[in-house]
This record gives sequence, C-alpha cells and structure tokens, in this order.
Amino acid sequence: MDSIFTKIINKEIPAEIRYEDDLCIAINDINPKSEIHILVIPKKPIKNINVVEKEDKNILGHLFIVCKNLAKELNIEKSGYQILTNVEEGGGQTVMHLHLHLLSGNTLKL
Ligand code: 5GP
Repeated sequence: MDSIFTKIINKEIPAEIRYEDDLCIAINDINPKSEIHILVIPKKPIKNINVVEKEDKNILGHLFIVCKNLAKELNIEKSGYQILTNVEEGGGQTVMHLHLHLLSGNTLKL
C-alpha cells in the first residue's frame, strides 16, 4: 500500500517536517484547517484504526506522545488542542495511511 504519505516518508516528495524519528514523521498539513494543523504519521503503512494489530500498540502510543511533545513545544498545552483520526471515506479519511491530526486555534465542535 503506497500513499502520498509513504512518498513523504521516503523523501520522494517534500513536506514541512516538524518532527521525525524511526517510528513516525510529523508534518504541516498542506491544507490547514486551523492555525496549527500537524499530521503525525507512523512510518509503518497502516491503513487506519480498523486494521491496527496488538503489535502496533507501541506505535499508537508513540504517536500520542509525539503529539504531546509537539503541543508543549508549540506552547498550546495549556490553551488546548485536538487530536483526531478519520477512518474510511465515510469517516472523512482521504489518505489511506493512518495519521493523527493535531489541531489548535480553531476548535472543531463535536
Ligand atoms: P484525512 O482526510 O485522510 O484525515 O487527512 C488527510 C490530510 O492530508 C488532509 O488534511 C490533507 O490536507 C493532507 N494532505 C493531503 N496530501 C498532502 C500532501 O501531499 N502533503 C501534506 N503535507 N498534507 C497532505
């Protein structure tokens, strides 16, 4: 499964990288929906939450820790932020490679 995010992970297409390690990459969303809109993407090409396995729990936990660290760095830990993941087309997913949206500055009301 090759997505646009695989190409970004492999540096085949450019992105504004906010953070990277061996498990994930965090980039600015190309079409931001709020003042801060970062995508935290596992390097493992997992489609979405529907197909995560028990063995992926470290990756999933890590994505949240990276969001937390970015929030601290960006000084939004107190003012607040949202972490969101879309699942399948009906759930708003357009890129079929798991990612967390880290959003701040224009709160989505649920
Ligand atoms: P989804 O709709 O799948 O939850 O989120 C996909 C997100 O990826 C969208 O917010 C969209 O703007 C972003 N996106 C799509 N293509 C690219 C790209 O090539 N570069 C970056 N940085 N973001 C992208």
